[in-house]
Amino acid sequence: MSHELRIQQLADDLGRLGCRPFHIPLGVMLDEANPRQSRCIRCETCDGHPCLVSAKSDAQVACVDPALEHPNVTLLTGARVEHLETSASGREVTRIVVERGGAVETYAADVVVVACGAINSAALLLRSASDRHPRGLANGSDVVGRHYMGHVNSVLMAVSKCPNRAALAGFLAHVRGPAGCGQPGDARP
Ligand SMILES: Cc1cc2nc3c(=O)[nH]c(=O)nc-3n(C[C@H](O)[C@H](O)[C@H](O)COP(=O)(O)OP(=O)(O)OC[C@H]3O[C@@H](n4cnc5c(N)ncnc54)[C@H](O)[C@@H]3O)c2cc1C
Ligand code: SF4
Repeated sequence: MSHELRIQQLADDLGRLGCRPFHIPLGVMLDEANPRQSRCIRCETCDGHPCLVSAKSDAQVACVDPALEHPNVTLLTGARVEHLETSASGREVTRIVVERGGAVETYAADVVVVACGAINSAALLLRSASDRHPRGLANGSDVVGRHYMGHVNSVLMAVSKCPNRAALAGFLAHVRGPAGCGQPGDARP
């Protein structure tokens, strides 16, 4: 996505200081060469808001909505998977026990994908402990749910006398790591 005027000026200023600012990769369906064909209309409420014209390549637009167009796909909302049960061998998931609307439901499938996010996938596996899997499913190592790490981010804030009227101001990035990346001669941006 091309920069707005003030952001381009900022990028140019940073470039003159020897930095290598770059355009943040964005999952938006913007075709600047063919604006009439572009699904993204470059509105003023992108970051932090749902896209009202479905032009963000997010999970809803790129995966869930297209999947729901198939007649054999059903999306259950308000359904919490309580635990998974396995066969006697412990090798296959045989039942998915779900709490939905205050009632318990069970499901079964040839293929079961656990995709509850990093923390809740681990919690579900741990809740699914059984005689065959006393420490939880897929937890022979006993590290499921342990050793989480966080992003290490830093923020630089500067106040400029030059007004910034850019609507999409957050799409410029600059990386500087301990190895000096971002400086002239470095391979990385
Ligand atoms: C604040 C924040 C900002 C982020 N920003 C970015 C970004 O800018 N770019 C980027 O690429 N990534 C970003 N990420 C990371 C990205 O959002 C995640 O990596 C990604 O969403 C993970 O997708 P997922 O499908 O594995 O899990 P999720 O998107 O977490 O989906 C898991 C789903 O499972 C459901 N669930 C959980 N437990 C159960 C249960 N027991 N039964 C039924 N359903 C359950 C949850 O309700 C949820 O809907 C960000 C994450 C956070 C938290
Ligand atoms: S919210 Fe606006 S700028 Fe963002 S993808 Fe949708 S139309 Fe484009």
